[in-house]
Amino acid sequence: MLMGFAVALTLVLLGIFLLKKQHEKIIERTLKIVSLVFATIFVVRYMSGGEAIKSAFALNTTLLSPAMTAVVLILVWLVYTSNVLLTIFPFFKIKAVSNLVKYFSTAVSLLNFFLLYWHIIGICGAEAVTSFDFRALLMGLEAGISLAYSSYILFSEGFRMTKKETLLMFLTIPFMMIAAMPSYLPQALFGHGNPNLEVDGLSQTHRIFLYFGFIIPLCIYFVFRKKDYAVRHFTLLYISLASLLVYTAVFRFDSFINPLHWPLHLCNTAMYIIPLCLIFKWEKLFYFTYFINVLGAFLAMLMPNMVDNILATDTMHFWLNHYCAFFMPILIVALKIYPRPRFRQFIYSMVGFVIYFFLILIINASNYGSVDYFFTNSDFIAEKLGKWAEDLRLVTWEFNIGSLNFVFHPVYQILFFLVYAVAALGMWFLYELMYTFEDQMIDMHERKRKIKLDELALKIDKGVIMSDIEKVDLKLEHFSKKYSSSKVFAVEDANLEVHGGEIFGFLGPNGAGKSTIIKSIVGIQTITEGKIEVCGYDVEKQSVECKKLIGFVPDHYALYEKLTGREYINYIADLYEVSKEDRDRRIEKYVTLFNLEKAFDNQMKTYSHGMKQKIAIISALVHDPKVWILDEPLTGLDPNSIFEVKECMKSHALEGNIVFFSSHIIDVVERICDRIAIIKGGKLQCVKTLEEIEKSGKTLEEFYLSVIGQEEAK
Ligand code: ADP
Repeated sequence: MLMGFAVALTLVLLGIFLLKKQHEKIIERTLKIVSLVFATIFVVRYMSGGEAIKSAFALNTTLLSPAMTAVVLILVWLVYTSNVLLTIFPFFKIKAVSNLVKYFSTAVSLLNFFLLYWHIIGICGAEAVTSFDFRALLMGLEAGISLAYSSYILFSEGFRMTKKETLLMFLTIPFMMIAAMPSYLPQALFGHGNPNLEVDGLSQTHRIFLYFGFIIPLCIYFVFRKKDYAVRHFTLLYISLASLLVYTAVFRFDSFINPLHWPLHLCNTAMYIIPLCLIFKWEKLFYFTYFINVLGAFLAMLMPNMVDNILATDTMHFWLNHYCAFFMPILIVALKIYPRPRFRQFIYSMVGFVIYFFLILIINASNYGSVDYFFTNSDFIAEKLGKWAEDLRLVTWEFNIGSLNFVFHPVYQILFFLVYAVAALGMWFLYELMYTFEDQMIDMHERKRKIKLDELALKIDKGVIMSDIEKVDLKLEHFSKKYSSSKVFAVEDANLEVHGGEIFGFLGPNGAGKSTIIKSIVGIQTITEGKIEVCGYDVEKQSVECKKLIGFVPDHYALYEKLTGREYINYIADLYEVSKEDRDRRIEKYVTLFNLEKAFDNQMKTYSHGMKQKIAIISALVHDPKVWILDEPLTGLDPNSIFEVKECMKSHALEGNIVFFSSHIIDVVERICDRIAIIKGGKLQCVKTLEEIEKSGKTLEEFYLSVIGQEEAK
C-alpha cells in the first residue's frame, strides 16, 4: 500500500513538473516549497523515533539477515546524505550541486524506492510492513517526493556533464557521506572487539582524534578558500546540517521528556546554533558560538571522558559534536561567511555567556531532572583539577522552593565562571594573533602579485602580448535592458569584452544607454536579458563577489558631507574590509596625487565639486578594484584635476586592472583610451582600438561623428 502510494505520488509530481512549462521564477519558488515540505516530512519521521536497525552489532539483529542489514544500513546512510542535499539544493544556484542532485540523489531515490520495504523494516521495525505505521507512511511520502524531485531536475536540466564535472561529482560524494554518516554505523557494521578500550587521558587513539580535529578544518579551508561565496556557504551549511542530523540521533522527540536529553550542554548548543546562523544572519548568536563554544569544545576534546571502543556509537557521537563545535565557527569566519569580529561582538558574546551560565546554574542546582549541563554542579571537572577544587565544592548553599530543592556551590561556581571568562578573553587575543598572521601572509602575497603585475605592465608597454595575464575581464553577452516604465529597450543585445590592463572608453550621446549598461555592470539594476560577467563571476548570480571586484564612481555621487574626507574613506574601507596597512598606503598615494593633504581632515561640505569628485574616486579605489568603472567622471572638472584623474586611470590600468568609463565628450577620451565603443539609441555601433581609428586617417572626433551623425552628436 505504501509503495503504491509512493508510486502514485511520484507520477503526480512528475506530471505536474513536466507539464508545467512555467516561468523560471515560479519553478524556482515551487522547488523551494517542495524542498521545505520534503524536509518537514523527513524531520518529523526522523525525530518521531530512532531507527530499529541502530541496535545491530556487527550486522547481528533480529530484524533482517546480516546481508540485508548491511544493505539497509548503507541505504540509510545514502538516504541521509541525499536528503540533506535535496533540502538545501534549490537555495543555491551551483552547477556542481545540481549535478549531484541529478545523478546522486536520483540514483539513491531509485535504490530507496526498490528497497523501501526493507528500509521501512530497518527504520520502523518488522510490524510496520504488516500494520499501519505513521513513520512508514512518512517514509513512503519521502521516497516518492525525492524520486520525483531529483528526476525532475535530471530531465529538466539535461543529462550532459563534462568529464571535469563528473570527476568533481565523484570526489564530492564521499565527503558528503562522511558528514552525514550515522554515528551508530561503524558499530552496527563492524561491532568492536574490546568494549572497554579506554579513550581516556592523552592515549594514542585520543591524540589521533585530536589531530583530525585540526587536519579536517585545514583541508576544508584550503580546498574552499578561493571558491565562490555560494560554494563556501553551501559546503558549510551542508556539513552543519548533516552533522546536526547525525547528532540528533540521540535527541529524538520522545527523549525530550527527560531534561537530561535537552541539548543544553555548551557543546550541544553549538550543533543547533551553527546551522541556524548559516541560514539566518544572527550575528550576536554566531559570535557567542565563535568565542564561547569553540573554547568549550576544545577543552572537552582535551579531556574526553569516554570508556568506549573507538568504533562505538558514543565515541563517534562525542567527536562529531566536539569537532563541529570546535572548528565550524572558526571555518565560518576563515571562509568569510561571517566577518572577523570586533571587540563589541566579543562583549556581546560574554553577555550571552553570563545569561547561559546563570540559566544552567539554576536548572542544574534544582533537583528537577538531575541534570548537570556544562558540569557546573558535579565534581566531574573538579575531580580532574585536584583536591583543592574538590574542597572548594564543599562550600554549599542550599534552599527549597516548593517541592524543588536547590543546591549551589558558590565559591567553586564563581571561580568556574571567572576562569572560563578569562579563557574566553584569551580566545580574543588568540584570534587577533591569527588575523595578524593571515594579514601578513596576504600582504606578502599581494606584494609578490604587484611585482608580477609591474613586470607585466612593462611587457605590455613593450607591446608583448602576454598569454599568462591574470584573468581580469569584463564581458557583456547579449545584454538587453528594458525599464518597466518603458515599452522599448534602453539597451538591446550588447556584446562586449574588455580585458585587464585596458582603458576602455564608452562614447555616445545623452540617452544612448551608457549609464544603463554601467548600472547593470555594477549591479544596481537588474538585467532583462543576457548576462554580464566580471572576472568570471556572474553579476546577477554572484553579485557579492562582483561588487568586491568593482570600484564605481557614479555621475551623481552622494557623500556624507558632515564627515571629513578621511572619515568617509575609512568608512568605505571598513565596508570592503580593507586592512589598515593597505588602506593607509592607498590613502597616502591618492591624497598626494590629488593634492588633498590640507583639506583631507576638513568636513566635506567645505569641498569644491572637484575635490568631492576626487574623494568619490579615492573611495572607489581604496579596495584596489580589478574593474574600475566611472560614469561621466570628468564633467565639471578643471584642467588640472582632469589631468590628475587621467594619470590615476593610467596607473590603475598599468597594474593589470580594467578602467571602464563613459563620456559624451570626445576630447577627454582621446589619448588615454586603448579602445572605445560607441553606442547610439541603445545599440552598440562599433568597438575599435584607437590605433585602428588613427590608421583610418580620421581623428576620434571625426570617426565618432561619422558613426553617430552630425545632428545627433549635438
Ligand atoms: P546615457 O547614460 O547614455 O545618457 P541612459 O542609459 O541614462 O543614457 O538612458 C538610456 C535610455 O533609457 C534613455 O532613453 C532613458 O530615458 C532611459 N532610461 C534611463 N533610466 C531610466 C529609468 N530609470 N526608467 C525608465 N527609463 C530610463
